[in-house]
Amino acid sequence: MVMPHPVTLTFDNGPEPGVTEFVLETLAARGIPATFFLIGRKLATPYGLALAERARAAGHLIGNHTFFHQTPLGEATDDAAAQEILATQDLLGDLAPEKLFRPYGNGGVLGPHLLSQSARDLLVVGGFTCVVWNALPRDYTDTQGWPETALGQITAHRAAGVPSVLVLHDIPTGAMQHLPAFLDCLLATDVRFTQEFPDETVLVRAGLPSALCDRYVAAKPESSAFG
Ligand SMILES: [Zn+2]
Repeated sequence: MVMPHPVTLTFDNGPEPGVTEFVLETLAARGIPATFFLIGRKLATPYGLALAERARAAGHLIGNHTFFHQTPLGEATDDAAAQEILATQDLLGDLAPEKLFRPYGNGGVLGPHLLSQSARDLLVVGGFTCVVWNALPRDYTDTQGWPETALGQITAHRAAGVPSVLVLHDIPTGAMQHLPAFLDCLLATDVRFTQEFPDETVLVRAGLPSALCDRYVAAKPESSAFG
């Protein structure tokens, strides 16, 4: 028996008025649960908080996607990295008891720039679950063609028996106008939408670093002989 292919649908870089509402309505109409990874500086606005509350009330999970979303934590100072995580988590409060965190990749790149040693330690001590992705159709640059790319990535995962963790962006690029048709296309195949994050994309789970984690942590800078 062939099992339905698991797809974890995630939306990064919101909340964004004028876009997040449409995404929420599109998901609600299809009964699809998702996870929204929010940027702290956007959450620190009345509309941002209201959108986050609306998403949570609709059954979506809310995650932390840094405060400024400008410098990968592996390239930030220890203090700045701690602020990026903790200030956003403070704002999220009861909206995000799962303590999900997704690092900023700077164009979706996976590598050791994602975390610093101290950011990793902070996520471990804080009991966070830190997740990345394995399907990135670049909807933020390919605003028209991304659905085809995403369907191709998911088909490849299905063939390989790997669950899909898809990243889309609820930001005003126009890309999300294709979300309804994309989801309907996926729903016509044998998929199961889930809010679970498979081991393939988890760097830290509830404070426990995975075997993948070190691959995404920057080497400690050598103390320089030149000061
Ligand atoms: Zn992002």
